[in-house]
Amino acid sequence: MERMVEIERFEEEVSYEMTLRPSSWDEYIGQEKMKKNLKVFIEASKRRGEALDHILFFGPPGLGKTTIANIIAFEMNANIKTTAAPMIEKAGDLAALLTNIEEGDILFIDEIHRMSPAIEEILYPAMEDFRLDIIIGSGPAAQTVKIDLPRFTLIGATTRAGMLSNPLRERFGMHFRMQFYTANELAKIVAQASHKLEKPSHEKASHEIARRSRGTPRIALRLLKRVRDFSEVANENEVTLERAKYALDELGVNNLGFDEQDIQLLELLVSAKNKPMGLSTIGAALSEDEGTIEDVLEPYLIANGYIERTARGRIATQKSYAHFKLASMSDEGLLND
Ligand code: ADP
Repeated sequence: MERMVEIERFEEEVSYEMTLRPSSWDEYIGQEKMKKNLKVFIEASKRRGEALDHILFFGPPGLGKTTIANIIAFEMNANIKTTAAPMIEKAGDLAALLTNIEEGDILFIDEIHRMSPAIEEILYPAMEDFRLDIIIGSGPAAQTVKIDLPRFTLIGATTRAGMLSNPLRERFGMHFRMQFYTANELAKIVAQASHKLEKPSHEKASHEIARRSRGTPRIALRLLKRVRDFSEVANENEVTLERAKYALDELGVNNLGFDEQDIQLLELLVSAKNKPMGLSTIGAALSEDEGTIEDVLEPYLIANGYIERTARGRIATQKSYAHFKLASMSDEGLLND
């Protein structure tokens, strides 16, 4: 079965996201503290007539890192060039990007933790001194060519702050951790998008979709899109609560937004009876890449108190036992049922 709360993007989805992507602060719901700070820093650098300091955003996929980078560019009246670290394979790729930008422009690099060490070395002087040191040729004939760059702003996004090297992390003047969205915030995002799609969603319907979206706008928008199809086929001009519920049930999204993999993971940990389980064991049991478990699956479950990460491994919390209507170790009778 297709994973409904899957976070990876497909092409069709990217164009759909572009249509719905907020282009101003007003439309960018939630992340209030971060927004407030960014507005100050943007205003200050505009007053000084300087490029904005380099910014690093970290947090699980789909929480709005790319979107906010685009809003910052808009607010700074700057051009933005977007790329992802795995696409920068050679020094020349980075040089081509950097020599093509203008004063004040923004370079957005997604998945910046996947940058190769050799490319990182070239990025350091570019970030710090706006200078490119490129080595041409090899052996005794090798020459270093220095190229001055315009002052630009690098915005990096990563799902794994822990995988970023220290020197790279330290070269970003601002660090922001993205938060999961509350159900109310997601409901606003759903309502806003449903208007853009010209199929307004009733307030309760927006909340229903929001509740089941794992705190993630990208998932909320994907679910809205599917619910809208159900409304369409039922010849309804608006998204009603009944239709939303029906559609979400049909799609197999549970009412906490858990998908099959979340449930598998929780069941696995619950069955371990409070014995911490290591990431590699979980990966093997779920046939899933350890990185995906850490970046995509766990953060939401940890943020909402369903699992805990301890030095010896992951354990299910009381909340998970309650969810599966099981008592934890303290009440073994039930568990052995
Ligand atoms: P990330 O870069 O963190 O993976 P994106 O910026 O691509 O996430 O966000 C995914 C989609 O969710 C965007 O296309 C946008 O439409 C929507 N979105 C994200 N954050 C917000 C927000 N704060 N308010 C409204 N919509 C949002």
